[in-house]
Amino acid sequence: MPRYKVLLLDGIDPAGIELIQRTTSIDPIVHDKIVREKLLDIVVDADGIIVRSSTAVDRELIQKAKRLRVIGRAGVGVDNVDLDAATERGVLVMNSPSGSTTTTAEHTIAMLFALARNIPQAYKTLKNRQWEKTKFKGVELAGKTLGVIGLGRIGSEVARKCQAMGMNVVAYDPYINPDAHLSSGLELVDLQEIFRQADFITVHVPLSEHTRNLINKNTIARMRDGVRVLNCARGGIINEPDLYESLKSGKVAGAAFDVFETEPNTESPLLELDNFIATPHLGASTVEAQRKVSEDICRQVSDYLLKNTVEGALNFPRLEAGQVERYQHFVDLAARLATFIAQICDGRMQSVLIHYSGEVTDMNLNYLTSVIVRSLLMPFLREGVNLVNAMHVAKLRGIKVQDTRLPAPENFTNLIVIELRTDVESHRVSGTVFTDKLPRIVNVDGYPLEVVPHGHMIFFTNNDKPGVIGGIGTVLGRCNVNIAGMHLGRENQGGKALALLLVDDPVSNDVIEQFRQIPNILSAKVVHV
Ligand code: NAD
Repeated sequence: MPRYKVLLLDGIDPAGIELIQRTTSIDPIVHDKIVREKLLDIVVDADGIIVRSSTAVDRELIQKAKRLRVIGRAGVGVDNVDLDAATERGVLVMNSPSGSTTTTAEHTIAMLFALARNIPQAYKTLKNRQWEKTKFKGVELAGKTLGVIGLGRIGSEVARKCQAMGMNVVAYDPYINPDAHLSSGLELVDLQEIFRQADFITVHVPLSEHTRNLINKNTIARMRDGVRVLNCARGGIINEPDLYESLKSGKVAGAAFDVFETEPNTESPLLELDNFIATPHLGASTVEAQRKVSEDICRQVSDYLLKNTVEGALNFPRLEAGQVERYQHFVDLAARLATFIAQICDGRMQSVLIHYSGEVTDMNLNYLTSVIVRSLLMPFLREGVNLVNAMHVAKLRGIKVQDTRLPAPENFTNLIVIELRTDVESHRVSGTVFTDKLPRIVNVDGYPLEVVPHGHMIFFTNNDKPGVIGGIGTVLGRCNVNIAGMHLGRENQGGKALALLLVDDPVSNDVIEQFRQIPNILSAKVVHV
């Protein structure tokens, strides 16, 4: 088994390092702190890099790392990793978000209590030797309405825990099916309803163009007077200057932030306000979370290097859990069809058109299209292309890729059709999987046939005239190549025809040249699937 070298940087928790040490074929190189020049030096032969948030895994570093296959981020945010540069080089980037879910949910609830009971303000005055008993009267949480925006891992844990504390919880998440199984009593409502009902609003969405400034002066105006808001997700989801104004006016009674638009941040005007409390991005900072995210990412990285299994990838066409096993026969079919057509087509690839119909459309077609594009490019690029960078490499080469879903055809419950156009010719191959789960080519260039593509094959086009098949057999016999199977297809008697021969051994260019001398053979190509 090959040996791999993985750099573990930024003070990764020892639990993950121990896990890597236990895999006998990975050498962990641990540097809690390392100067950039030294890092650029040692990264050259690294197969993997695992970081937290400090090390800049930028284009320069990625380009230096000639053997790099995977970058792991212990935790969530990958702002310090150049995703584009990694994708272009076919390097997988993965993170480990779930290890910090409970910890971040607990931090949100700690902030909720602190906000309701003015704990930070009271603590500060007492430390200044003042006993301010009446100034910090708070509010109860039980019986109040909490609006949760974003009902993912953290949002739903916050919701569940707050329900247990006696709060009424309403949630908004446009990407959750209203029929989904939610914790009992939790109601999915629209955003306006959150603003109308909630005494406390907490955001747990990713920062995106849709969620930036989700809470701003207009949306605040629609909230209840005296609402309290929390952001333990990402800076920028709540507009800071607008929040400042509404905290000053009293429209918003209090706010709690763990995150800011720019970090570190000790200058925000919000910090001047007594009704604003904050922590310096401590959401995931617990002993347990650091251990869990370290273990998770180290296991993910070693599984990828040793077993090629992908989990938590950010630049990889995603398959839901279980889809790989359930749809493996379609993945296999797609790869074989593409490998086949890539080898029968001469010239520079210009465009690929893929039609999917029937059962295959139940799976993630982005994934399947990446499989097809990778397999088309593999015969020529080998290690240079993988599922991570296939679409990017195609784009760089000016190859247009288009995929469509079509209604299920009459004779097949599922069908994948690939049309490949080059600057000199175009071909079209269709394939299906029957109940035996074997991939079959069922049509090439309009000629129906039925063949399980595997091993060494020779693809002929010819005029349908007597003597062609005999001539092929004679050449193969002379060259001592055994025929394992033969499949013929023809337009009409005497018209154009094609033949696909399965042979036991690879055939050389010299044999192909001899085929081309046989009268009525139009083309002969070696294919290996
Ligand atoms: P997640 O992906 O499990 O959940 C995010 C949810 O937001 C999803 O259910 C999604 O459907 C929903 N969503 C997306 N866009 C939305 C929109 N426009 N309106 C409403 N809902 C929308 O993520 P998670 O692990 O629960 O993390 C939530 C947030 O917490 C993220 O921003 C993450 O970066 C942040 N986080 C912060 C810390 C910290 O240290 N403070 C730690 C971990 C995670």
